Parts: sequence; C-alpha cells; structure tokens
Amino acid sequence: MNQKQPDSLHYRTRFAPSPTGLLHVGNAYSALFCAAWAKQHDAELLLRIEDIDHTRCKPIYTDALIEDLHWLGLEWSKPVQYQSQHTGAYMQAIEQLREMQVIYPCFCTRKEIREETARMASAPHAADVLVEYPGTCRDRSIYEQAQRMQDEPFAWRLNVERALKAVGDDVSWLDSSGLRHAHTIDHDIIIGRKDIGFSYHLAVVIDDAAQGITHIVRGDDLRESTGIHRLLQCLLELPEPVYMHHGLLCDIDGERLAKRHGSTTLKGLRQLGVEPQKLRAFLTEPGRYSWPFSDTDRDKILDVLGKRP
Ligand code: GLU
Repeated sequence: MNQKQPDSLHYRTRFAPSPTGLLHVGNAYSALFCAAWAKQHDAELLLRIEDIDHTRCKPIYTDALIEDLHWLGLEWSKPVQYQSQHTGAYMQAIEQLREMQVIYPCFCTRKEIREETARMASAPHAADVLVEYPGTCRDRSIYEQAQRMQDEPFAWRLNVERALKAVGDDVSWLDSSGLRHAHTIDHDIIIGRKDIGFSYHLAVVIDDAAQGITHIVRGDDLRESTGIHRLLQCLLELPEPVYMHHGLLCDIDGERLAKRHGSTTLKGLRQLGVEPQKLRAFLTEPGRYSWPFSDTDRDKILDVLGKRP
C-alpha cells in the first residue's frame, strides 16, 4: 500500500531567515540547500521568520524576503511562523531556567567586559581582546542581584558549568552521518538580551521543538552555536534534532557573502532581468562554492543568468 506516513513520523526541516536586510545570493544558496534536502528526503519544509531583534529586523524586509523566496520558486507547507508572535514562550523558558538556577543576571556593559577580560589576561590592548565573558556577575549574592535588578538594565547569562552539571555534563550534537560532536561552549553566553529579554539561541530551540523540526539544515556559521542549542534542549527537555551545516557561498575574493557587504541581492538580480530558474540551477550546481561575479558585472550576470533575447 502506498499510504502516507502519519505526520509524526515525517521528517521536517525549516529555513529560518532574519529580516535584517534584503536577501542576497548567499541566503538563496542556503534556502535552496535546505529545500533540496527536504525534497530528497520527502520532508516538509517550513519557513520561520526570526524577527525577535526589533532593533535590526524590519517588516519591509520580511515582506521582501517572502516575495524573493516565492520568486525563487520556494514553497513551504504550513503558514509562516513569526518569532515576534511567540515572545511569551521565550519568557516562560527564561523563568524555567531561572527556577533551575542555571542563569544569572549580568549587569556588565561591553566596555566593562572588554576591560575585565584584558585585565585578567594582562593584555596590553584591551580593544583587541575577544569578548568572552570573564564571569564578573556569576557569583553575586541573591541580595545584590535583587537590588540591582530593580534599577539597572541586565542580561540573563547561562552559568555554563552549572548547566552542564544539571544535565549530566555529556552534551553533544548529532550530524546527519550519525557522528556526535562535543559541545565547544567556553564561556557563560547570553540567553536573555538586555534590550529584548531573550536571545536567538533560546528562541531557536523553543521554535524548533514547537514546530516539530526533526532536521536542521543551515550554514556553517552556526556550527559553533549548535552545542549551545543542544545544552538548552537538554535543560528544557526538548527533543533532539539532527544537524547539517553546509559550506557558505563565497564571493570572488573568497569572502563569505553577507548582508553587510552589500552583496548581490535577489531583488537587485530580479530587477536586472535574471531568470529565477537559471539562478536556481546555477546555485545548486554540484561543487558550487562561490558567486563568481562582482556587483558591477551586470552584463556577465545577464549572459549567464538572464533571459535569452
Ligand atoms: N536566523 C538565523 C540567520 O538568519 C538562522 C537560524 C538557524 O538556522 O538556526 O542566520
């Protein structure tokens, strides 16, 4: 019988862009990678808009990215989920972690952290020191915490040592070839930002669980965060997904394409007359690791990806 499996046995993945700018070809590469994986595994593909950061995300970028993904020919099987509509669930998780005593309020400013890290390392150039949290607020008394929380802005930090202990110290994540990778968390990371109350790391694990995501297909830039996500899943008793990290598309100088570099946007390509089918085929060619055009290569781009006259 060719019956459909019950929903709970299906593989499900998601593409989860943040609307902080227009989508560029690096984002399209990632979305297509995710969609190809879903097709190959008969998995559902969902779209989640990661728009919790109201200081950087804008509704015009959300609209533009949905338009761009449709233009590219991508489809998703359920209504789009918006993280900004689920902030209650993230705040609840903060409360849960607080009750477990694995997070603490941190009152430090970036400048203070840099100075303290430099002091501890006796480094001559404070500004060059990587901002890893030195643990300044970790052991403040409950009394001091309560006092300062009344009138100082604070972030919530994970007490990593305590959190690892709480889950039995054995935190690793599984990749699609069945290999386990040890976490690489080396300092108390922020779980609740001063300005928005929670963080990407927290929101992403809550939503992956809430949406029943079985497989997470995303760029290599998030590989290092996976141990953090796994630790949060263990603490919050959320299911464990399988992770796949793909290489990032680079530009002609071998640099990763990123919004901040003003790399070629899908909107720009569309307006130039690029054909979505051609762009898709180009970006999904086996062995495609780079975008071999500069922003000024209009004719070259159209030769390869434009309509034939
Ligand atoms: N929102 C993240 C980004 O745009 C992706 C999150 C994820 O795939 O886990 O980089």
